[in-house]
Amino acid sequence: MAHRVTLIPGDGIGPELAEATTRVLDATGIGFEWERVEAGEAAIASHGTPLPDDVIASIRETRIGLKGPITTPVGSGFRSVNVGLRQALDLYANLRPARSMEGVESRYTDVDLVIVRENTEDLYAGIEHMVGRDAAESIKIITRAASERIARYAFDYAVANGRHKVTAVHKANIMKLSDGLFLESCRTVAAEYEGRVEFEDRIVDNMCMQLVQKPDLYDVLVLPNLYGDIVSDLAAGLVGGLGVAPGANIGVQAAVFEPVHGSAPKYAGMDRANPTAMILSGALMLRHLGYATEAEKVESAVREVIAAGRSTTADLGGTTGTAGFADAVIAQLRAPSGVR
Ligand code: NAD
Repeated sequence: MAHRVTLIPGDGIGPELAEATTRVLDATGIGFEWERVEAGEAAIASHGTPLPDDVIASIRETRIGLKGPITTPVGSGFRSVNVGLRQALDLYANLRPARSMEGVESRYTDVDLVIVRENTEDLYAGIEHMVGRDAAESIKIITRAASERIARYAFDYAVANGRHKVTAVHKANIMKLSDGLFLESCRTVAAEYEGRVEFEDRIVDNMCMQLVQKPDLYDVLVLPNLYGDIVSDLAAGLVGGLGVAPGANIGVQAAVFEPVHGSAPKYAGMDRANPTAMILSGALMLRHLGYATEAEKVESAVREVIAAGRSTTADLGGTTGTAGFADAVIAQLRAPSGVR
């Protein structure tokens, strides 16, 4: 029976990446029925809102979404669709693995980090107001329930994936109450995993420096929303940039898989963007659905194509287009193992 998946192609380079990714996932032979829905700029024109109700309704039904990037106007206009989706579906865990790849130029060759970002609260709760004309206030919300839930997700992930250490990242020396509560919650949960998974904590500024200098010392990081957003881009930079960084938003009732990068409007429609991040997000989706072997095959095929260096996109120094890269990955999936 085919798996029904809600497909949100998104804005900018999104539709091209979605096309490339669905072709690769279809080539695994698992069988998907893609339920296409529109969100973002295209939906504003057709529905008057960037996040129409049918998008949420579709994901509530299929319980799985694969999403391209969506343009968010800066400073004014509609609220971020991404934040709206995560909150509406309570996709509380944002998982962003960052792993070095042969053939992708970067400072290190052995980075293997997993960022677990709390996805529902902190400064992203969207509670902001002006105080008079010349001051603005944003409210940072941290709760014990959400902090313990994300910490538990990070530890469970570590156990399930053979990871040895979880590092909680915070600024509890300054935000003693909010970040203090996050850290305390992580410590409470860590105690339940003692002897199975190591635990430590780092202040976020020091964490950034440590990651740049000694990324090999870290394994799974758990962070509140804002630090998680920033540190996961830093981690993406350590392994070669946004074009190769996948992501997943996981909740109890649903999960949405999407690249870390944005809609790169300047490359829209040019068959130039790198679909790796979205294809690898698709591989995370396969793993979530219980297809670990197929996920591994897709990840290996992507790694092989990039390592061989003949069919890479412009951001990785190649001349192949988005569709051509997907063709090469599909050919690699079908090739006998070990053949590049
Ligand atoms: P961006 O990720 O779109 O682009 C940053 C840089 O990375 C650009 O130089 C871009 O050309 C390059 N890049 C990104 N993805 C690439 C790919 N697949 N292949 C090759 N190069 C790639 O970030 P931005 O410019 O800050 O944001 C553009 C829009 O995307 C904004 O409206 C922003 O709000 C939105 N955005 C959406 C998401 C999401 O939907 N989850 C995430 C981040 C940003």
